[in-house]
Amino acid sequence: MEQRKEAIICLEGLGKQFQTTNGTVTALDDINLEILQGEIFGIIGLSGAGKSTLVRCINYLETPTAGRVIFEGQNLSMMKEAEIRKARQSMGMIFQQFNLLAQRNVLQNVCFPMEIAGVPKAEAKKRAAELLKLVGLEERMKAYPAQLSGGQKQRVAIAGVVAMEPKCIIMDEPTAMLDPNGRKEVLNTVHRLNRQKGVTVILITHYMEEVIDADYVFVMDDGHVVMQGMPRDIFSQVDTLLEYGLDVPQITRLAWELKQEGLPLPDGILSRQELVEAICQLKSKT
Ligand code: ADP
Repeated sequence: MEQRKEAIICLEGLGKQFQTTNGTVTALDDINLEILQGEIFGIIGLSGAGKSTLVRCINYLETPTAGRVIFEGQNLSMMKEAEIRKARQSMGMIFQQFNLLAQRNVLQNVCFPMEIAGVPKAEAKKRAAELLKLVGLEERMKAYPAQLSGGQKQRVAIAGVVAMEPKCIIMDEPTAMLDPNGRKEVLNTVHRLNRQKGVTVILITHYMEEVIDADYVFVMDDGHVVMQGMPRDIFSQVDTLLEYGLDVPQITRLAWELKQEGLPLPDGILSRQELVEAICQLKSKT
């Protein structure tokens, strides 16, 4: 029997309210979830659903107004500021913008956070070179950010974060500024790092396609987690997702529309190949 993986992050009854001049805004309400070690978790939801607030509460950049964040068995709200900072360092963050230093080349950019953290130069260079190879940029070590595509820049940023050997990386719409090729590059890189280094990934995105290969998906709406499950289970519920104003992967949508037209296709088709196979099966039955 497969052993159940350990939870690296648990949220228990997590809530966050903001006091504004227009009154109280409830950004998160009674969130309960577990992030398991070594897996890729997708978080999807409309703009304003609470995704960014959720990750900012996970690493305590925002202090929750209710509930608990348990990181590796430790309750963050019971920690002193210095301990929280240490825990935060174990959670690498990747944002839409690439956060690279224009005056430094690729290798120097990846080394920079390690230098600040006091990692010896030789060790930092070794780790950086290994990671740049893993993200497919070993040929571009001497290039400067301005000479790179968006996807390449984001891969450098990811290498820099992973070089700090975090326990998990939290990615807040890492592909939002990229073209389709760049998005694919970054996604492939995330999966490669997860497979080869076992990094736990929390991936916030509004591109449904990007969570097809995640291990587990949370759907947020209006401060709540309203759906959770494996991608196929989530994308089998097209009507519910549409009710939340969300879409589904293009191919899932096409299969769903064909089904509405009367073709008896299964729910939750996630790839072109699955759709072709399902249609061939129908043909062979007739
Ligand atoms: P998402 O990342 O899904 O777009 P956010 O977490 O940014 O959603 O926002 C969730 C809700 O909380 C929104 O209604 C937003 O306006 C509100 N919110 C977020 N940050 C603040 C803040 N600092 N002050 C007041 N309201 C906020």
